[in-house]
Amino acid sequence: MTQDAVSLTKSLLRFDTINPPGRERDCARFAGAMLEEWGFRVEYHEYADSRTSLVARAGGSEAKAPLCLTGHLDVVPLGARQWSKDPFSGETDGDKLYGRGASDMKAGVAAILLAARSFGKKLNGTPGIVLVLTAAEEGGCVGSAQLAKTQLLGKAGAMVVGEPTSNYPLVGHKGSIKFHARFRGVSAHGSMPELGENAIYKAARAVARLEGFDFATPSHPIMGKPTLNVGTMEGGVTVNAVPDAARFGVDIRTVPGMDHDGLLSKLKSAMGEGAELEVFSNLKPVWTAPDHEWIQRVFEICKPYVGEPPAPRTAPYMTDAANLLKVYSGAPTVVLGPGEAAMAHQTDEYASQERTRQAVAIYEALIRDWCR
Ligand SMILES: [Zn+2]
Repeated sequence: MTQDAVSLTKSLLRFDTINPPGRERDCARFAGAMLEEWGFRVEYHEYADSRTSLVARAGGSEAKAPLCLTGHLDVVPLGARQWSKDPFSGETDGDKLYGRGASDMKAGVAAILLAARSFGKKLNGTPGIVLVLTAAEEGGCVGSAQLAKTQLLGKAGAMVVGEPTSNYPLVGHKGSIKFHARFRGVSAHGSMPELGENAIYKAARAVARLEGFDFATPSHPIMGKPTLNVGTMEGGVTVNAVPDAARFGVDIRTVPGMDHDGLLSKLKSAMGEGAELEVFSNLKPVWTAPDHEWIQRVFEICKPYVGEPPAPRTAPYMTDAANLLKVYSGAPTVVLGPGEAAMAHQTDEYASQERTRQAVAIYEALIRDWCR
């Protein structure tokens, strides 16, 4: 097989892995078959029908854990707006390679695969590499959360997350807590509200308190401050009744050093009596100090491609790293991939062909450096 980074990205784009529903299986099997051919040991994990993640390994030694390179196989829906390019066939125009998931992140997955191909069997007797290709990253990192509960991930000594950064190495991202706050009341006729207990009033008071919530945490030097957003509000069924139920949805982004459990109990008491919290996502921030030795090596390797010594920066979005680090605890982590972050989830999403090829060289240099 003589695929280059661009043609392999096109091959990956042809698999419809739009999530929902996902259906990553065929794409995962396609990648897995290539990896086996290149000398990798491949294992699959399906947390639900067709929701396939893959873990592939080559090399391995007692002395040092392998380098992990990770990416997700699913992509977001096409959206309501009409595309001017075919989202699945890999149309090109100049340097641009179009398709749903081109930037986020099939170009990144293709670059990871091709860098892996360059080594394959040559990694015997070295720390080696472990590739983790996940299902269901979009909409809550479900695939990596499931994978982290299995024994498949093994060990890793450092991690590269191939999400779109235009090949700029980023040293982490905020954490996230998402929950619904539910309030109950007592229904009554709308003409006699004094006989009821209005759940919407309770929820509204709680929302107002959250708007002024003080995290009481110092600003992080790179990530800045934690944030809080109330994104949904639901309650009541008809205008002429006292509502007996209301709830709203909250999205919190945390910075390193914050204690999520402590924060949740502070939020609960800030929202007042009767608030019931249903936490449906709780992921810690990802952060490696920029002066960490391995991060400095990554910066050095990326310098020629970035055109300057990289400065410490973090990604605006979440990644699977938050879940994988539950297993790869303490592994220095960099978010680094060829896609364009601004193109993620957009109509007419594209990736740069040049950056996709460069990413292969960057990942190869990282593997060589780790396994030397
Ligand atoms: Zn992504």
